[in-house]
Amino acid sequence: MSEKNYKIVVNSELENFIPNLFNDYWDFLDFSNLKYRYTSSAIQEKYGLTASVYYKAVRSSGYLEFKELMDCGKCYANIKVYNRNEVFHLIKKRSHSELFCKTCYSIKFNDSCKMLVNKFSESLPLELIVENKSNEYSLSYLEKIFLYNLITQSDSPEGEYIEEHVWENFLALEAIGLEDIVKSIFDKGYVYNKKYDDCLLEQQVYIKKLYYRNAEEYSDEDTFKNLKLIANLDLSSYFCLNIPELYSNVSSWAHALYTEIANAKLTIFDCKEIEAYLKTKRLMEVYELLDYTCSYWNVPIVKDNALEFELLRMIINYDLNCCFAIIYYQAKETGAFLNKMGSEVTNQQRFTKNHLLRMRVSSYMDYLERKNEKPKHPRPLPLDWVTSEIELFVSMNIIKGYQKWEKYTPEEITSEWLAALDIDA
Ligand SMILES: [Zn+2]
Repeated sequence: MSEKNYKIVVNSELENFIPNLFNDYWDFLDFSNLKYRYTSSAIQEKYGLTASVYYKAVRSSGYLEFKELMDCGKCYANIKVYNRNEVFHLIKKRSHSELFCKTCYSIKFNDSCKMLVNKFSESLPLELIVENKSNEYSLSYLEKIFLYNLITQSDSPEGEYIEEHVWENFLALEAIGLEDIVKSIFDKGYVYNKKYDDCLLEQQVYIKKLYYRNAEEYSDEDTFKNLKLIANLDLSSYFCLNIPELYSNVSSWAHALYTEIANAKLTIFDCKEIEAYLKTKRLMEVYELLDYTCSYWNVPIVKDNALEFELLRMIINYDLNCCFAIIYYQAKETGAFLNKMGSEVTNQQRFTKNHLLRMRVSSYMDYLERKNEKPKHPRPLPLDWVTSEIELFVSMNIIKGYQKWEKYTPEEITSEWLAALDIDA
């Protein structure tokens, strides 16, 4: 606030207007330091006014107007104050930087938004990372089955890509322990990952923030439209299907794959791959049932070689319902025993505790073997158990017995499966 950079605006049409009172009220000795020629009580005395009449007169007589530099450092704000108190608070409590210049801020904001939009638009086509390879390599029989099931699960309109959630579900349901098959399909170039560069994703996050926070207020119409467009762009990563040139779309490709699967002549490699697939699939299922049961009965378990040995022994001899019966019953007994034992345990007891279920399972299987028996009450799988799509596909289209595999050992399923096909020995 510079010296004399102010004016007094008087409301002289006021009824009971007291000439000169207002000029005396705003008579500064030193404007910058708020030094007045007259104190309030001196003015009241001079005009013979009570305090309440004096303040009322001051309030209605007009205002002091001055210009104040705003935060942009260029523009001035017109400020009106109606009494000495207001001007005091304004000067003492507010620094110049708090006077916000919307005009200059909007220009600056809009310019930087435009720059961001340009930078983003320039880098968008460049930053698309495509690990696309040729897909000339031939697939094994089992890889064809995996691929067929994967591409027929796509939700995208043309089926040309697989959404992340479909992909994650497929991995969780079909590929636990079988990552090599998926990797091979990837390596052979039939599926590739399309993802955007991290830098571009960061830019989008920043633009989204601007868009949602204050873009509408401070940017022009076109810039705002562009910000909106970028903020709403879907930059999630996709798994794209690399359709072989022979086929015009995914469904004709899927149809061809199906025909190849149905009429396959298996090689020895294919047979061994099927056998290994079924064994791994079953082992993973038994692990899942073990996790489910241990958490249900609150029984600790150590996943070591000794445990895997027992589980492999189990899946060779029993179907999945019997495996579940063995695990469930032994875990229940183990849980009850551990409860009695309580939480105060020695180191040796802790070791026993962690391995107790495995030892019980092992000795129960010894008992069954001696008696040449199976568990008397095979246990149905948990209600929320999800059956693999590949299992249902093979059961319906290849083995055609319409049986779920839980009632069979991997060896039994292998022989049913191989019996349904020609083998090219
Ligand atoms: Zn300004």
